[in-house]
Amino acid sequence: MPIIGMTRREDITPKFPDLGKLRKGAQKGRSEDGKPRPGQDLEYWRFTSDRPEIVAAFYAAYPAEPKTIHAYLPFPTQEENWQTWREEYDAGGLVHRCDGQTVTRWRDSAGEYQDRPVPCPYASGQQERTRQRPGCGQVGRLTLIIPELIEAGHVGFVTMETHSINDLVSITACLTDIENHSQNGLTGILFHILRVPEVISTPAWDGERRAAGKRNRTTKNLVQVVPAARWVQAQLNKAQALALPGDDLLALTDGGDLPDDADETIDAETVIATAAADKPAATFTLPGIDAEFEAAADAEFASIPAGPNSIHAASAPEPPPTTAKKLRPAGIAGGMVSIFNEWAAEFAEKYPYWQTEDGLADRVHLLFSIAKVGHSTITADNWEQIKAEMVDRAAAKAAE
Ligand SMILES: [Zn+2]
Repeated sequence: MPIIGMTRREDITPKFPDLGKLRKGAQKGRSEDGKPRPGQDLEYWRFTSDRPEIVAAFYAAYPAEPKTIHAYLPFPTQEENWQTWREEYDAGGLVHRCDGQTVTRWRDSAGEYQDRPVPCPYASGQQERTRQRPGCGQVGRLTLIIPELIEAGHVGFVTMETHSINDLVSITACLTDIENHSQNGLTGILFHILRVPEVISTPAWDGERRAAGKRNRTTKNLVQVVPAARWVQAQLNKAQALALPGDDLLALTDGGDLPDDADETIDAETVIATAAADKPAATFTLPGIDAEFEAAADAEFASIPAGPNSIHAASAPEPPPTTAKKLRPAGIAGGMVSIFNEWAAEFAEKYPYWQTEDGLADRVHLLFSIAKVGHSTITADNWEQIKAEMVDRAAAKAAE
């Protein structure tokens, strides 16, 4: 039996030093009455570290206001790389950390930290959330390996921290999706960690409007975690190779759709790159990878052993060359990503045909279906129509 704190797997896993933090906001300020004020949301990443030489190495590799960071994830599973909690802080530091129900770490009246589980005082109703004391709030921390820092001789982890509900949901969904579709989990995949402006709605600030359930709309620079193009391409190739009737491994191809799908092959760029190709100005574009990273990603890709579920599709039979009709997943125009994600979750809940094995929305499958009903890109203009047509498509599927 492993001994806690000594021989458990997590105890013997090498612990790399924390090199620094990737931050979404500007430095904390002070309001006129001297109270600390959160830093404003930035459109780009801000890297901080206690060690100036690491900051220098970071900014030697990235511009002053980088919107995209290259990163690998150190662990195979979503949960190991991505820690989410609710936490309460005061001037003395962490007050408690909970999962929304049960507190797993808390500071007692003597200032000592306790790990004995107790109910969250805000969840149990023991303590009321007020504006002065809003209680525990959500936080997500993603552990990253930034290859440029490793190359500069700094081996360790960088933590990206976010407090946005939208980020927490979308990063969880993205990492789970990829973990489910990858034989080697999340390791060995080059990711782009992006900032993407999105209009989101938040509860109104002032009491009266808030009480009336009014919401404000603001633009926030959300986080997107996207596998580098190469990996997505490999997944699409695999889906193509495996697009046999009844094979629903990735469900990328509306696998059960024969015969109307029988003459379709996938010749897709990444989902996101497709959007970029359609509408370069207004769409969310996947930034280019420089040659060095392309080569590194290729090397990672090549090092993954081939097998029946491998992401290697090179040995797959070529699709019929002449009669093939190309189907690409629909792209998503800028500003529509979170709208699509929200809809996808609801839609898939209603129509299990578009669910992954875990019952989550299979967004790539949905994007293929949207392409199939005739829309190459999701925009604000065609969104209502797409939603209506997808309901029709679901009805048609159910009738089969
Ligand atoms: Zn709590």
